[in-house]
Amino acid sequence: SSNMAKSKFEYVRNFETDDSCLRNCYIVVRLDGRNFHKFAEQHKFLKPNDNRALGLMTRSARSVMEDLEDIIIAYGQSDEFSFVFKRTSTLFKRRASKLMTHVASQFSSSYVFYWKEFFGEQPLLYPPGFDGRVVLYPSNHNLRDYLSWRQADCHINNLYNTVFWTLVQNGGLTTAQAEERLKGTLAADKNEILFSELDINYNTESAVHRKGTTLIWEKRDETTIKRTKLPKGEETEMAVTRSRRRVHAHHCDVIGEQFWTEHPDILED
Ligand code: ATP
Ligand code: ATP
Ligand code: MG
Ligand code: MG
Ligand code: MG
Ligand code: MG
Ligand code: MG
Repeated sequence: SSNMAKSKFEYVRNFETDDSCLRNCYIVVRLDGRNFHKFAEQHKFLKPNDNRALGLMTRSARSVMEDLEDIIIAYGQSDEFSFVFKRTSTLFKRRASKLMTHVASQFSSSYVFYWKEFFGEQPLLYPPGFDGRVVLYPSNHNLRDYLSWRQADCHINNLYNTVFWTLVQNGGLTTAQAEERLKGTLAADKNEILFSELDINYNTESAVHRKGTTLIWEKRDETTIKRTKLPKGEETEMAVTRSRRRVHAHHCDVIGEQFWTEHPDILED
C-alpha cells in the first residue's frame, strides 16, 4: 500500500503487462460455464431447458450489472452470459484482466450465493466455475452483430434440443435414434418434424428458451404504499410513485431493428 516504503523488490511490478482495452470500443466480457454438460446432468437439469438454471444464471448476471458500473446490456443463454461495457468506460482503467476477473468472480460467487433461491433443498454438489474472455467491438454495427451471433446460436441450439428431446421424451426414440433422425436436417425440416410428427408449433414455445435473456437498465415508475403518521398521531397509507432505474429482463428478438428503436439509449453514437 501507499504508506509503505518502496522495497528493493518493487521492480517486479514492471513485469506486469499493459492490457488496457483500446479506447472508444465496446468492451464485451463473455462467460461460459465450465463443463456444464456434466454439471447439468449431475444437478438433474431438466432437458432441454431447466428454468431453475436459467433463472439462476439471470440472477447472477443481474448481480454483476448492479455491482459493476458501466454495463449497458447483458445477453445470456444456456450456460453463457455476455456483458457489454459502455465504450467510454474508464472502470479499472479499462484493464482487460481486471474487468474480466471481476465479472467472472462476481458471477460465480453469485451463482453459489443464490443457488438455494432456485434449487431449494437440492444441494450444490461442487463449486462451479466460469471461463471469461474479452472482445472489443469498435462500432455499433459490430456490437449488434455480436449480440445477433449469440442469439442466433441460442436459436439453432434450442431448435435442435427441442426436437431432439421431444423425439426422445414423447416420440419414444432412443437418444441414438433421435440423433440419427436429425442428421443433416435444416431448420425448416426440424420445424416440420415438430409440427407434423410431434404436434408442437416452435413459435409458441417459451420466449426465454427461443430468444435467451437480455438485461438492460430501464427507468420505470414504481408505486409503493407508505405508512405515514398524521399530525394528530393517527396512521394513514399513501401511494407514492417514483421513477426508479433498475435492471429489467427481456426475452425478445435483438437481431432486428425493433428492440433497438424501442431502446435508443443503449448504444452510443
Ligand atoms: P481493492 O478493491 O482495490 O483491492 P481493497 O479494499 O480490497 O481494495 P486491498 O489493498 O486489496 O484493498 O487491501 C485489502 C484490505 O482488506 C486490507 O487492507 C485489510 O483492511 C482487509 N483485510 C484483508 N484480509 C484481512 C484479514 N485477514 N484480516 C483483517 N483485514 C483484512
Ligand atoms: P465447456 O467447459 O467447454 O464450456 P460445456 O459442457 O459447458 O463445456 P457448452 O457448450 O458450454 O459445454 O454447453 C453447455 C451445456 O450445459 C449444454 O449443452 C447443456 O447440456 C447444459 N445446460 C446449460 N444450461 C442448461 C439449462 N438451462 N438446461 C439444461 N441444460 C443446460
Ligand atoms: Mg483488494
Ligand atoms: Mg490486495
Ligand atoms: Mg464452450
Ligand atoms: Mg460451457
Ligand atoms: Mg456454453
